[in-house]
Amino acid sequence: MQDAAIRAAIDAAIEARREDLIELTRALIRVPSVNPPGADYEACARIVADRLAAAGFDAQLIRAEGALADSERHPRVNVLARREGAGPGPCVHFNSHYDVVPPGQGWSVDPFGAELRDGRIYGRGACDMKGGLAASIIAAEALAELGGWPGAIEVSGVADEESGGFGGAAWLARRGLFAAGRQDHVIIPEPFSPDGVCIGHRGVWWGRIETFGRVAHGSMPFLGECAVRRMGWVLHALETEYIPRIAARVAAAPVVPEAARRASLNIAALHGGQPETAEGFLAPNVPDHASLVFDRRLIPEEDPAEVKAELRALLDEVGARHGFEARLTDLFEVRPTMADPEGPVARAVRGAVRDVLGREARVVVSPGTYDQKHFDQIGGVRDCIAYGPGRLDLAHQPDEYVEVEDLAASARVMALAAWRLLTAGAAKDAAPA
Ligand SMILES: [Zn+2]
Repeated sequence: MQDAAIRAAIDAAIEARREDLIELTRALIRVPSVNPPGADYEACARIVADRLAAAGFDAQLIRAEGALADSERHPRVNVLARREGAGPGPCVHFNSHYDVVPPGQGWSVDPFGAELRDGRIYGRGACDMKGGLAASIIAAEALAELGGWPGAIEVSGVADEESGGFGGAAWLARRGLFAAGRQDHVIIPEPFSPDGVCIGHRGVWWGRIETFGRVAHGSMPFLGECAVRRMGWVLHALETEYIPRIAARVAAAPVVPEAARRASLNIAALHGGQPETAEGFLAPNVPDHASLVFDRRLIPEEDPAEVKAELRALLDEVGARHGFEARLTDLFEVRPTMADPEGPVARAVRGAVRDVLGREARVVVSPGTYDQKHFDQIGGVRDCIAYGPGRLDLAHQPDEYVEVEDLAASARVMALAAWRLLTAGAAKDAAPA
């Protein structure tokens, strides 16, 4: 089929499914698949599996048995669906997570009511990212109906993205289900707006800094060594030396929002001294222990080993100045991940945005991580980007919503991009020599 004809056919197929797209999004939102603890995962996975099975996909539920947080009460159930095309060709994969963060306070609507009002669907996960999951399912169904493409289309719905992906994308990647050679092009419908193409994310390093002292009577602090005052020197050095130094490092990549182009440190928790009683009383002691947990975000130019060595050196310097040794412990890390902005999937989605929306796509990089890291760093699937209908600033907020127009536009973009990726080889073969 000619490109103009296929564009028209895709537009018609998505338009014909507009009500389906709305109702599928609402059905997914009504399942409170909240993480933690990982509630109702199976119910969500079943909606996806049943729907795609009805469209001719081979859909499997795969429990991440033994994964972190997997239990009989809260099984980590994933869904992986595949439909073969007419003959050999590449595999285009849509990957969404269906877990949502707890709703929190401040809602003016029922967070699991999926209210449809003024062209918006409200609810926890509407934007991040059940709307994107629904759009990708509708796009896959439209392509299944059109037929005539080689290769395979896959859709996955995974657990636990909000808590690191251990019972979801990471588990599937470790078992070879997300792997180079199995998937060629991956689109993750995370919320970057219908004209945003996200090629990767910054890195993360969580760690703990501890200072130690010596207990003494609080009336004679000169007889002890105060761990909290030592932590004060650490904080002072972070504030006056370290944070300004790393803030001067600016990513070349277009991280959004603009302020997130700089390397950053968040002090996530700070504890010192003995715990207070419920009544607020405290032992009159000099504290012998203090602990600080930090969340360091790395720009793509930063090397994780160098970042760690730099902070270790700073702590050694501060300790030498003030006569103590601080302990530094790694808690968690993710290297920055970046797809080639000129790779096949980024180009196909940018082209489809141009043709469907009539404007150039914004190429962005995410401030926080998402499941792209597992496709890339475990599965070796490099041609992977995020593209989905939600607006990033609504994610995890009260009164989260997704625009119906954005859902439909992104479904058209996903279907057109997938069609072009699937048929790119065939088009080349058919081209005159
Ligand atoms: Zn998300």
